[in-house]
Amino acid sequence: MASSMGQTEPSFRESVDLMFNRAVALMDLPPGLEEKIRVCNSTYTVRFGVRLRGKIHTFTGYRSVHSEHMEPVKGGIRYATEVNQDEVEALAALMTYKCALVEAPFGGSKGGLCIDPRDWDQHELEQITRRFAYELIKRDLIAPAQNVPAPDMGTGEREMAWMADQFARMNTTDINARACVTGKPLNAGGISGRVEATGRGVQYALREFFRDPRDVETTGLSGTLDGKRVVVQGLGNVGYHAAKFLQEEDGCIITGIIERDGALFSAEGLNVQDVRDWIVKHGGVSGYPDAGYTADGAAVLEQECDILVPAALEGVINMSNAARIKAPLIIEAANGPVTAGADDILREKGTVIIPDMYANAGGVTVSYFEWVKNLSHIRFGRMQRRQEESRHALIVNELERLADAMGSTWSLTPSFKDRYLRGAGELELVRSGLDDTMRIAYQEMRNVWHGRDDVADLRTAAYLVSIGKVAASYQAKGL
Ligand code: NAD
Repeated sequence: MASSMGQTEPSFRESVDLMFNRAVALMDLPPGLEEKIRVCNSTYTVRFGVRLRGKIHTFTGYRSVHSEHMEPVKGGIRYATEVNQDEVEALAALMTYKCALVEAPFGGSKGGLCIDPRDWDQHELEQITRRFAYELIKRDLIAPAQNVPAPDMGTGEREMAWMADQFARMNTTDINARACVTGKPLNAGGISGRVEATGRGVQYALREFFRDPRDVETTGLSGTLDGKRVVVQGLGNVGYHAAKFLQEEDGCIITGIIERDGALFSAEGLNVQDVRDWIVKHGGVSGYPDAGYTADGAAVLEQECDILVPAALEGVINMSNAARIKAPLIIEAANGPVTAGADDILREKGTVIIPDMYANAGGVTVSYFEWVKNLSHIRFGRMQRRQEESRHALIVNELERLADAMGSTWSLTPSFKDRYLRGAGELELVRSGLDDTMRIAYQEMRNVWHGRDDVADLRTAAYLVSIGKVAASYQAKGL
């Protein structure tokens, strides 16, 4: 794509490589290692037929493996008509860097199927998914120890359950079969908190950013998340959960929601749950009452707001609109929403970007917990929860006995008692593990961001941290 400035917009994969190159130029890696880390190891393309509606339909799918410095490799499977090799390879590379940054012990991979899931009914989608999974499973491109997919755009729990079942049918004696994909429903080996994990991670990332006033100052904003005006693009899995949590738990005002068929805006704030219910019922945002509407959704990206959350597609902020983006802070909930060209323009303008490899890492983090749960064959918290509760009860009972013995009117508030006595179940442990992961990864990034004179942005800092970890792991293997 050529921009008005006469420069050419790089492809998604070129964008990722350009960002990688900018960071790696600041590192001192052994000769040749830089290229080994950057290149995508392999991409498998499959074309398969499924008999549907009285004829054979041919579908094209991909599974790219970017880096096997750790195995299994991990990455979502996307269903969209735009899926292509360049995109899948870019997404696989981002998975490598993302897993390294948050210390999920995986290499990077990604898959995609060229299909609009809305064109097919549930039974047809199941047939297509099972056949696609069959093609990947027989080449070990889905396998608990080698390659573990997860949901991405256009896929969710339902597709993951079909894939896991397909794997189990083809590997009837594999006791770890359920660990072959993550993002499964709870009753099929999933984990509490996975569905909302990526959106929850976006919320935790913003909370961590706003915890340090010096970081907030770099955007020209001040204070906490409370009252901040937020525009979200894409009210799917990631965008919906992020916007909902930010609105309900952090006091953010959602002033714009951009979807496929246009955008809603309201200075007073949109109710995320109401808009989501409307989309589910009507298939889009148009017609939603009590808000302004424009069919030109992309224009709302340029609306005045404090935080912009692109949570739909890659390349939506590019050289043609970057100069007009007014938000001082962008958090990349989607993968690759800002092209390398736009990144240069925004950096020049002083816009702060919390980069995708960190911002949306909540999904792979909780996927990692799900994989561990599947391999250990036990729900998190099952052994400790009641024991923890009885130890807390011991203390509470003793304190109350002492107060009684001293004739004191002192007492614990019922809400404190209730919260203190409750042991941590799986959901609490997942949230705690996710919060810890997002905080630690952010601190590693920010130490580089503020600690080095040659690093001016969080994206370069994120690449430096993650490339450093991938390089260390290759070097430890003796490569
Ligand atoms: P999804 O399919 O659940 O939601 C995508 C949403 O974007 C849908 O509501 C869709 O209608 C909307 N959309 C599509 N085209 C649009 C357009 N042109 N303008 C505005 N809205 C549009 O997908 P998702 O899982 O939420 O993924 C969104 C992004 O987050 C992707 O970049 C994906 O790679 C990334 N991501 C997802 C996960 C995950 O756990 N699902 C994890 C990490 C990253």
